[in-house]
Amino acid sequence: MTRRDARGAAREDGAEASGPMRTCVGCRRVAAKSGLVRFAAPDGVLKPDIKGRLPGRGAYVCRSEACLAEALRKKDAFARALRRKVSAPPAEELEEALKTVFRDREP
Ligand SMILES: [Zn+2]
Repeated sequence: MTRRDARGAAREDGAEASGPMRTCVGCRRVAAKSGLVRFAAPDGVLKPDIKGRLPGRGAYVCRSEACLAEALRKKDAFARALRRKVSAPPAEELEEALKTVFRDREP
């Protein structure tokens, strides 16, 4: 059930060893899905999908605040990945959610 876009199809080799690969919408690097934070916008508002339970398409960002900042700066990136218009949540709400995401990271 892997969806591939044109870009993803170009990289067949080695992709299976570490599971599904996704592109970070911030830096555009391809990384293992497990190392990225999923975002979804089930009601049109962007949310970090911390438990991986939000329905719909997901957009992925590295577990890096720099990548997230970059992805948010060009909000189109999320809209394109999710194939719908999205609005960013209030900054504080997003920050709060992200603290959880980054704090959850095991060393
Ligand atoms: Zn990134």
